[in-house]
Amino acid sequence: MEREICIRCGGEMVHIGQEHLQMGKYGWILGGLDNLISGALTVDIYCCRKCKKLEFYAVEPPEEETEDSIARTPCPYCGQLHEMDDAKCPYCGKRLY
Ligand SMILES: [Zn+2]
Ligand SMILES: [Zn+2]
Repeated sequence: MEREICIRCGGEMVHIGQEHLQMGKYGWILGGLDNLISGALTVDIYCCRKCKKLEFYAVEPPEEETEDSIARTPCPYCGQLHEMDDAKCPYCGKRLY
């Protein structure tokens, strides 16, 4: 997406900052967006130097890191974490269980 050029006059768009918007309060600025996103929304705000038009760009919320779902247990011999269903410890090679 081209962010630096004003769609109205072709002037330079300047990044002003980020704002955390409550959709209930500022929904009118972003029009239909509040149908897609509920609750608060973080936006990048750009302003045209020539015509002072403001542009808002929704900032994608950072994706939550998925926790490693494999259960891990410490080796009774060397103490290193390894997968629960390992037959042998991958670190010290001792047979487990
Ligand atoms: Zn402009
Ligand atoms: Zn071990």
